Amino acid sequence: KKRIGILTSGGDSSGMNAAVRSITRVALQKGCIPYAIYEGYQGLVDGGQYIKELGWEDVRGLLSVGGTSIGTARCSDFRQREGRVRGAYNLISNGIDALVVIGGDGSLTGADMLRAEWSGLVDELIATKKVTAEECEHLREDLTIVGLVGSIDNDMAMTDITIGAVTSLHRICEAVDNLTSTALSHQRAFVIEVMGRHCGWLGLMAGIAVGADWVFLPERPPPLNETKYGDDWETEMCDIVKKYRALGNRKTLVIVCEGAIDRNLKPIKSDYVQKVLTDRLHLDTRVTCLGHVQRGGTACAYDRFLATVQGVEAVEAVLRSKPGVPAPMIGNSHNKMTCTPLMEAVKLTHAVAEAIAQKDFGRAMEMRDPEFTA
Ligand code: ATP
Repeated sequence: KKRIGILTSGGDSSGMNAAVRSITRVALQKGCIPYAIYEGYQGLVDGGQYIKELGWEDVRGLLSVGGTSIGTARCSDFRQREGRVRGAYNLISNGIDALVVIGGDGSLTGADMLRAEWSGLVDELIATKKVTAEECEHLREDLTIVGLVGSIDNDMAMTDITIGAVTSLHRICEAVDNLTSTALSHQRAFVIEVMGRHCGWLGLMAGIAVGADWVFLPERPPPLNETKYGDDWETEMCDIVKKYRALGNRKTLVIVCEGAIDRNLKPIKSDYVQKVLTDRLHLDTRVTCLGHVQRGGTACAYDRFLATVQGVEAVEAVLRSKPGVPAPMIGNSHNKMTCTPLMEAVKLTHAVAEAIAQKDFGRAMEMRDPEFTA
């Protein structure tokens, strides 16, 4: 019987609960024993009350609940080998021989690190008499690791979509719809700041879905028409806003991604965009930073579905796993479930961030999606 530990780590995202529910119930159906590891890697390091066997009823009602009911954390202890030794001890003492981690690239890197060090950690625990050789006989060789990507940013390479991104997009659209009624009434302009770190997916998708006048992205610094505007995005943005106003638009919506940059890689700040619209076009301009409302609330249908089917696949991947084979990340490509080496995806994600930092925007986009053409 495989004993499968489940943990959620890094920033929370809606759909993580649906994944926990799915993994738990499929594991039970397949004759495995699921365990919740509470508070992310901190629970793994601390053990005791933070690791609990899960039954069918324990995950009842979780499908739609936002965030993660088993808790998440940023855990500095786990970044140190000493923390991972304690984590390994807690897995062995609970007889857990597989770990499904739901989180972003950092969480998946931590999982890979644990696996890479695994036999050394086990040897150390035996040598220091924390565990006996018999206790970890079947665990000596390898620890099974499977990753699911839970992140509102949709910033992971080698998957088209991450658990929680679509719910977050819904939250942004709802918020902008609410702003739109007052914008229309007063002919106001709104500069709306959205999350996404170095990835513009949330901002771009929201821009299309709400009909924004302009979107500032990390991957495509303005101006869009370089030949005409050179470095002067302010004039290009104002020309476009003016054009739409002249066509009868009573509102202006500008979306600023939190990682948005200009051509000199300087951050584009919402307050500055507000000043440009106010000074140049004399628009009554307000800034709304959506903040954590973007993370919250009921998971949308798509995230419930995605997390549930990926949870099924995660248990299948645990049961298929073989010592020495790279740990898989369950993803989605062109609407099909994928199972790719977890560390390849993490490395590619970091390479994308590096390409953006080098101003190589086309290359960054190609790495995120090999079928992308600039
Ligand atoms: P998000 O995308 O929401 O930020 P994330 O998983 O990338 O999610 P991080 O804070 O980067 O979030 O990582 C979560 C946890 O994973 C860290 O607090 C740490 O415990 C563990 N972790 C991250 N990177 C490493 C690493 N290189 N080695 C060991 N553990 C790590």
